[in-house]
Amino acid sequence: MATKWVYKFSEGNAEMRNLLGGKGANLAEMTGLNLPIPQGFTVTTEACTNYYDCGGKISDEVASQVIEAMKDLEEIQGKKFGDLEDPLLVSVRSGARVSMPGMMDTILNLGLNDEAVEGFAKKTGNPRFAYDSYRRFIQMFSDVVKEVDKAKFEDVLDDIKAEKGVKFDTDLDADDLKEVIKRYKGIYRKALNEEFPQDPKDQLFEAIKAVFRSWDNPRAIYYRRMNDIPGDWGTAVNVQTMVFGNMGDTSGTGVAFTRNPSTGEKQIYGEYLINAQGEDVVAGVRTPQPITKLAEDLPECYEQFMSIAHTLEEHYRDMQDMEFTIQEGKLYFLQTRNGKRTAPAALRIACELVDEGKITKEEAVSRIDAKALDQLLHPNFDEAALKAALPIGEALPASPGAAAGKVYFDAEMAKLHHEAGLKVILVRLETSPEDIEGMHAAEGILTARGGMTSHAAVVARGMGTACVAGCGDIKFAEDGKSFTLGGKTVKEGDYISLDGSTGKIYLGEIRTVPASISGNFDRIMTWADEIRTLQVRTNADTPADALNAVKFGAQGIGLCRTEHMFFDAERIPKIRRMILSTTKEAREIALNQLIPYQKKDFKDLYEVMEGRPVTIRFLDPPLHEFLPNTMEEITALAKDMGVTVEEINMRRAALHEFNPMMGHRGCRLAVTYPEIAKMQTRAVMEAAIEVKQEKGYDIVPEIMIPLVGEKKELAYVKEVVVQTAEKVKAYYESDIKYKVGTMIEIPRAALLADEIAEEAEFFSFGTNDLTQMTFGFSRDDAGKFLESYYENKIYESDPFAKLDQKGVGQLIEMAAKKGKATRPDIHLGICGEHGGDPSSVEFCYRAGLDYVSCSPFRVPIARLAAAQAAIANR
Ligand code: PEP
Ligand code: MG
Repeated sequence: MATKWVYKFSEGNAEMRNLLGGKGANLAEMTGLNLPIPQGFTVTTEACTNYYDCGGKISDEVASQVIEAMKDLEEIQGKKFGDLEDPLLVSVRSGARVSMPGMMDTILNLGLNDEAVEGFAKKTGNPRFAYDSYRRFIQMFSDVVKEVDKAKFEDVLDDIKAEKGVKFDTDLDADDLKEVIKRYKGIYRKALNEEFPQDPKDQLFEAIKAVFRSWDNPRAIYYRRMNDIPGDWGTAVNVQTMVFGNMGDTSGTGVAFTRNPSTGEKQIYGEYLINAQGEDVVAGVRTPQPITKLAEDLPECYEQFMSIAHTLEEHYRDMQDMEFTIQEGKLYFLQTRNGKRTAPAALRIACELVDEGKITKEEAVSRIDAKALDQLLHPNFDEAALKAALPIGEALPASPGAAAGKVYFDAEMAKLHHEAGLKVILVRLETSPEDIEGMHAAEGILTARGGMTSHAAVVARGMGTACVAGCGDIKFAEDGKSFTLGGKTVKEGDYISLDGSTGKIYLGEIRTVPASISGNFDRIMTWADEIRTLQVRTNADTPADALNAVKFGAQGIGLCRTEHMFFDAERIPKIRRMILSTTKEAREIALNQLIPYQKKDFKDLYEVMEGRPVTIRFLDPPLHEFLPNTMEEITALAKDMGVTVEEINMRRAALHEFNPMMGHRGCRLAVTYPEIAKMQTRAVMEAAIEVKQEKGYDIVPEIMIPLVGEKKELAYVKEVVVQTAEKVKAYYESDIKYKVGTMIEIPRAALLADEIAEEAEFFSFGTNDLTQMTFGFSRDDAGKFLESYYENKIYESDPFAKLDQKGVGQLIEMAAKKGKATRPDIHLGICGEHGGDPSSVEFCYRAGLDYVSCSPFRVPIARLAAAQAAIANR
């Protein structure tokens, strides 16, 4: 049978959302419920995909089905498209599976032309209305379908009002509007070198094509990336008979929600305008009335409206966002959908619907957008202040939350000014572990380089600090005391504001409102915990971060990156001394000095975690990251070590690597310098035994060796660990158990996971490195070129933020399977940044992992996503 590309509203239902889009499916469903819906038809999402497959053409088959559907509609309405007496007019609107701002919205009054408008004027007995409808249509069609600058049309309207000496559009009569139309058509002709299309069929197909095209405009692509919407879904097109809210004082149009979308309160919430068409409500020219006022203006319509609103909420068992029009006292619904809402409203509505017995706890949990929980846990900008703000740039939304403060360009200055009581924003080319104190002091962090897994992004997420990363458009001044962005120069001490949730950068200080968590949050989280089986751990390197994560519900630490512990002012000289040592003995002396610090770190962590599992990863970064860069620091270090500056510089040069991310790092450090692993093992074991003795927690240390690619490599390091651990145990006369495992973050490790599992008691997927090495592009630099990949539809999303299930995911699945084949009780987790991304969490659940580990502020997101994964895969 030939494909059905077009469905009349009477042929569909709410289940057909994938094919008809959300709007189309709901219009069909409402038609089925016998609600007053202006009839029409939906061109399917498959027709959109087909349009792209045909190289941007509507195929003959689709076109003929559209024409057929139009004929049917003419019959239903008893009017003809393009008729000179009483023309059928339609609206054309986009409608994807999920509502998607950024795509083409609406064209009204399609079907009017120079002749039909006369018929329309005669039929309605209202020439002013008819010409107004036509001029609106020309304006919308030119703007939306042909991308002619809207402002040109506004100017014409303003000119004519000025010529007439009137203030409002409504003061223009039919003759004025004829003049407006004439000039509008002139604009169209000039911009496009053709006449405004007079054949309604041409108008219709042009509009349908515009909707299809809008699926792939840059705003829509961006929105899809941010919201995990696949690019191959496509959008449907809805063609619907026009009804008019601008036919006088018994007509009107409005929008309403069945519950308050900001707070969730159960109370009808909405606005309408008498004698107006849809865009007037949005445009804000006249102030709309609250929906309750309709009870006075048109009591019967109000009653019917309330009754239908109630029916719709009952039917969909969710808060509805509805559009309606009243034409000469008759009410029509133009659309309904599950309303968008703020995170607090989402929680409240879900909880109340459970209390009202309308939905189950599972449904409540499934309905919350896990990512939106960010809104609750971080400060936000005050909405009004944000509207007035001036954006100057945009980059990666690396760590959510809103922040405003004075700009400082180095960590030290940021720290100083923070201590003086100022709010600061740290702006850097990129951050390194040395910047940690400045990052802590900052309200927000902005970097010119680096991606979603850059140091700045990872650390900021851990601390819950807003961060916008990889803003390549920033140009720093030579003296490093100012930068330019979006044509503005920002000097040290100037205010900027960052939105780490959108990646936007604003000039000046925007007021923020603090995060707030309500009781509904706990209720939903408790339900989620009852449902999920996947454990949620956290990536934390400090007791403060760990404590925070436990408050957010973390069940353990999945990754403690020990290198972050060495940057403290007291410690860094000691690690530098170790690195610059040329003999094993000298290295051991330096390392021994580090043991007390490292042991204290671990003891603190174990205490905070109160017996929950803690995975400690051994030293991972290339050593040059610890070395001094400024002459001042180098001189000080030389003095401290009793060597010359030249000697230090020679050593620095020797440590230089062309490709440090693929260089001497991870377990390779322990292979060359086993004494580092020895020191870390001693610190871990002594800390665990002491805390176990002192506090009685049943601690089983988990020692994790990074960047392993070969079983023998792991065996070699493990031998050092085991020997040392056994010595410590003997010394303390302890029978403490411990585990040695590895990260799977090199493709070779995934390929040989069965062999590696002979040595490893657990695997933790390091998907930051695994992604980097699988794609072969740098986690710090990919941001620079990925934008072109999104634009050209090569990749849909940042693989460092959302797991590439097709490629990297295959390696994970394979490694998990191979690992289990060798060691059936092998414990499996993920500690790359993907551990806090909902779609990646779902993947981990399906791949049979035991836990995900993510930064503290993402723990609630992961808990909810894990529950949603369990529900979705039942
Ligand atoms: C990883 O590679 O995924 C990981 C967690 O380690 P890091 O980000 O520290 O390299
Ligand atoms: Mg790694």
